[in-house]
Amino acid sequence: MEPWQRTHECGSLRTEHIGQTVTLNGWANSVRDHGDLVFIDLRDRTGLVQLRADAARSGDLVHEAAAVKPEFVLSVTGVVRHRAPGMENPKLETGEIEVDLLRLEVLNTCRQPLPFPLSDESQMTQVNEELRIKYRYLDLRRPRMYQTLKLRHDAVTMIRDYLNQRGFLEIETPIFTKSTPEGARDYLVPYRLEPGLFYALPQSPQQYKQLLMVAGVERYYQIARCFRDEAQRADRQPEFTQLDLEMSFVTQEDILQLIEGMTIQIVEQLSTKTLGSKPFTRLTYDEAMRRFGTDKPDLRYGLELTDVGEAVRDTEFGVFRSALESGGQVKVIRYPNGISLSRREIEELTNFVREFGAKGLAYLQVDSTEEVQIRGSIAKFFTPQTLKRILEETQAQSGDLLLFAADRPKVVANVLGRLRAEIARRLNLADPNVLHFCWITDFPLFQWDEENGRWDAEHHPFTMPHYEDIPLLDTDPGAVRALCYDLVCNGMEWASGSIRIHRKDIQAKVFQLMNISEESQQQRFGHMLTAFEYGAPPHGGIAPGIDRLVMFLTDNENIREVMAFPKLGGGSDPLMGAPSPVDPSQLDELSLKVIYPEKPAK
Ligand code: ASP
Repeated sequence: MEPWQRTHECGSLRTEHIGQTVTLNGWANSVRDHGDLVFIDLRDRTGLVQLRADAARSGDLVHEAAAVKPEFVLSVTGVVRHRAPGMENPKLETGEIEVDLLRLEVLNTCRQPLPFPLSDESQMTQVNEELRIKYRYLDLRRPRMYQTLKLRHDAVTMIRDYLNQRGFLEIETPIFTKSTPEGARDYLVPYRLEPGLFYALPQSPQQYKQLLMVAGVERYYQIARCFRDEAQRADRQPEFTQLDLEMSFVTQEDILQLIEGMTIQIVEQLSTKTLGSKPFTRLTYDEAMRRFGTDKPDLRYGLELTDVGEAVRDTEFGVFRSALESGGQVKVIRYPNGISLSRREIEELTNFVREFGAKGLAYLQVDSTEEVQIRGSIAKFFTPQTLKRILEETQAQSGDLLLFAADRPKVVANVLGRLRAEIARRLNLADPNVLHFCWITDFPLFQWDEENGRWDAEHHPFTMPHYEDIPLLDTDPGAVRALCYDLVCNGMEWASGSIRIHRKDIQAKVFQLMNISEESQQQRFGHMLTAFEYGAPPHGGIAPGIDRLVMFLTDNENIREVMAFPKLGGGSDPLMGAPSPVDPSQLDELSLKVIYPEKPAK
């Protein structure tokens, strides 16, 4: 028998095993040498257990145990005993017992100094992230990291079970493909056999999943890797994973129900967090923008925006007047108990909103609502009646600071939406134990592209308009609502999807509005348009992010924490040393020549 044929896993031992002889494998998490008595905490993926070697009972083993260093790989045999009274460790699941050593075999040593300590979680925040990623195989030995990988696996298993039970097929689609219309930059792969031709890595399997619907598959999903060459942020990676899904003969409502049911099951079974609303909140895009200034509202707190345009219509205050006269808005957000903010703090907020396009920040300090005592930068411009109306409309409380934005609706929404999140952050209004999911529906189908004088698809050009809005494609394209939906959680977009266009006449109209010529349509989407000639069923889908899901479930704000082998910001992988130069002969084979920029590109 190999010495590492184990009988138990470290984390599984409890008082019920007392008296049993067990064989365990693992890594020495820590070694405590007290001379005649040596303790080793042995760690495998299930947890830690304390091994004990004392001169009286284990004889020479005590010297062998003392020679063990952290991260040695051990196989041990011993007897499970109750710990001495008072020596129990309630922080450890195996904390009531220990294993008295009968045999200790070092299967392998750890010959290098550890780049960071693995046994003390409290020190990890000080460890440089690049170092952790460079030595990811060590970083992943930490129970916290293993638990995250396990949770991710459990979530994906649950997703697969949920969809398999509902008749979905999991189908793989190619990684070497052609550019997809998700709007980011592509990663390209040169084609060796014909210089000048390239594959693109898929930004999503969007086109293939639609082709699978034409193929009659009806219900498809894939745990799909997506590749997008975008500016890196804490919540982005060049490659990430989505649950990609598509269905035929469905309505928007079917897809919302399906994903909502799946999400509720995952959150309720895999996390201790509570759902902010069940069923999930639903907002139309217009309502979200009007009430929260964003299409990704964090609904764990209120702080809704109030339009006071009517109340201040007759004001002498020039900024408000000109905003309203040019078709803009005047809106307000309450900063609860904000009258205590110093002049300098208000200045800081003003600088904050300037970043988002505000020209300034007008405010009122509500000392008391009773006698309408109001101070502030703009109080003198309003009659007592107007002030009273503003208080009523904003439902201000004594002590509040009212912050105003007056501008074009887009700017007002952006400024107050950002301010809302900032106030909530400062006042700690968002409960970290709540996941508040919210559907956003009825997005506009198009956005007007000022620069190029054409309509751009808000989601992608295959998105179906609301059936009753189809006539508006001819008369008022900006007013057409899309059968397009996002699922937002705690202020972050989690999933995005739409019902697709399956009718040729509508697709042609959309391309026409987007100013995509017949030639360009054929060049970019010819294969899709051809496929749609052969009887495309009505279909639609969605794609929730797997990495983000795990971020929500584990309270990680950094996407790298929920991936086994992430890239650093900028896309480099210090573990593999990628990206890296290649042998000149490989470039020759590909007929490629590198022209180095004068200054290295960022
Ligand atoms: N392909 C879309 C995305 O990646 C999702 C979808 O429309 O199904 O955002």
